[in-house]
Amino acid sequence: MRNPHRLLVVVVAGAIGLAGAVARRPGGSAGGPEAAATLEAIYALPAERAETHVLQRGETLSGVLARASITGQELADLLLALRRHENPRRLTPGVEVTVRRWVSDGTPRAVEVRLNADSTVRLDRSASGWASRVLVTPTTVDTVYVAGQIEAGRTLYQALVEDADLKLPVKERVQLVGELAEIYAFKLNFAQEIHPGDRYRLIYEREARPDGTARRRRILIAEVQSQGRTYPAIYFRGEEGDGDYYDREGNSLRSGFRRYPVDYVRITSNFNWRRYHPILGIYRAHLGTDFGAAHGTPVKATADGTVAFAGREGGYGNVIILRHANGYTTRYAHLSRFAAGIRAGRRVRQGEVIGYVGATGLATGPHLHYELRRNGQPIDVRTAKLPGGPPVPKALRGEFEKVVEERFALLEGWVDSAGPRFAAARAERSPEEGT
Ligand SMILES: [Zn+2]
Repeated sequence: MRNPHRLLVVVVAGAIGLAGAVARRPGGSAGGPEAAATLEAIYALPAERAETHVLQRGETLSGVLARASITGQELADLLLALRRHENPRRLTPGVEVTVRRWVSDGTPRAVEVRLNADSTVRLDRSASGWASRVLVTPTTVDTVYVAGQIEAGRTLYQALVEDADLKLPVKERVQLVGELAEIYAFKLNFAQEIHPGDRYRLIYEREARPDGTARRRRILIAEVQSQGRTYPAIYFRGEEGDGDYYDREGNSLRSGFRRYPVDYVRITSNFNWRRYHPILGIYRAHLGTDFGAAHGTPVKATADGTVAFAGREGGYGNVIILRHANGYTTRYAHLSRFAAGIRAGRRVRQGEVIGYVGATGLATGPHLHYELRRNGQPIDVRTAKLPGGPPVPKALRGEFEKVVEERFALLEGWVDSAGPRFAAARAERSPEEGT
């Protein structure tokens, strides 16, 4: 069934739009060009008529254009021109297609395929056929300063998202909290370790579209003051790589997990969704890694955390489950015994001995069965991209120091001015092709 209302007709009058813009220009002393601008724009005739159609599920661009009476060789030429920038078959529902026609005789003069918020393929018809080019939405770069203090009964999320003084769209604030939480993922647990009186401040750079929405954002520097300690995070990128966040000394903020819970590891069984179980005699997923080690070998916590469980549990035998920041848990099974004081609720530090290798539960011999999960989902520790980054390389230390100095000066500068909690420094950026 075709919905007749789906074809949204927008009459765009190029001539009217232009004249209107001129007429709005301020000033207007008698005589000269200002006087000319007060001419009623309505007298200009629209040169073209435009229809915009949103591609629906199951529709093809060819189908839409055929209904707009672009068919046959002309359609083939147009698709060929489009193909230089985008595969017509790959267009997804929601893509906007605008057909522009001459008002005089109704013939198509241009077709615009809006691929996303940032780029549109414009196809222009000429005597020699269709020509295509990509139009990229121009953006400007803003630098934004955000700061605040956590009040009693509020989380960092609430402080940022519900701050009435912050002149930022709510969606952008929500994204900002997410990015901040990610940066500090292995230093601070924003849900539990942020307290009333804690302060935060940060500076980020964003690329904004003319409608004010951000296309890209990057936190350049952040600082959280919590319980008398200061946690800076400075973005730094060497000549290659994606860049990362570091503290003032150049240590990566992403250094939360050791890969293995025992020293000098010998892996005897890997993570496997379908493995033959030697004792049960059946195929069953092995959602962890087994480390062969002598009975009594110390087992160490792979990250800071809290003991969620320490006791006996079925095939795991003596098992310890640690809860870490941001949804990570680790599990250490078949232990011969627990280290002194290891019980539920106890906080442990990365590298702390929590138990000793054994063969309790379903185990053929002494080994450590180790599991890492995030939000309950098992992760293969050997291949997972574990949060844990190297420090700034020695060769780049000089450059890093300069960046640190600049960023702190930026942060302090805004604080010293004591007034605005939000400020933006604008820099024009010329439109560039692609993303
Ligand atoms: Zn195992």
